[in-house]
Amino acid sequence: MPTDALFRDAPYERSCEAVVMGADTDGVVLDRTVFYATSGGQPGDSGRLSLADGTIFDVIDTVKGDNGKIIHKLAEGVPIPAVGATLHAEINWERRHRHMRMHTCLHLLTAVIKAPITGAQLTDEKGRIDFNLPEMTMDKAEIQARLSELITDDHPVVANWISEAELDARPDLIKTMSIRPPVGAGQIRLIDIDEIDLQPCGGTHVARTGEIGNVTVRKIESKGKQNRRISVVFADD
Ligand SMILES: [Zn+2]
Repeated sequence: MPTDALFRDAPYERSCEAVVMGADTDGVVLDRTVFYATSGGQPGDSGRLSLADGTIFDVIDTVKGDNGKIIHKLAEGVPIPAVGATLHAEINWERRHRHMRMHTCLHLLTAVIKAPITGAQLTDEKGRIDFNLPEMTMDKAEIQARLSELITDDHPVVANWISEAELDARPDLIKTMSIRPPVGAGQIRLIDIDEIDLQPCGGTHVARTGEIGNVTVRKIESKGKQNRRISVVFADD
């Protein structure tokens, strides 16, 4: 049975009650979870699972398993919870919220620089995107100005679901060359930032661009003939 991924429709949920469906040294699988599993350049969540008696299991990372399962990785050598146990699952919200802010910021960057994406990575401090772009026509200051404007203007960020057939009919929506959009049950999630950016994405996002806060465009690098890498970092926290 796949894990019910609550973060998809409720990225602001910090905790949930869940039942242990499987647990071994590889990690813990729950029936439902608020823990985001590593994908699309966004790190998996950390946090804790706790039993009613106060026993705590620290989650150091979250990854995707087979058949839609989400695996909560525990530190090596610690005890594991029993299958069937009900527990409280709570993410490290501060870290996740920074992932949401940076992730949404990277969406804006792909609106500023209109080129195919070949890769993206983010942490709770910084992010970067690789573009398939032989020549960069914008300098750092110009990218910074446009990005800051999109953040300050506080645009809404919404998620809509479309069918795979609808996506196939609109190949222009696919900006990322190397990563296929998340598919499952024929439905794909489309992230719409006020008609500034529209693309399929399975990550977690903030509700409005103003929530991203101040970010600094750190550098533009050439990584190969075609590849231009733009790096951004949170400016003041
Ligand atoms: Zn996204």
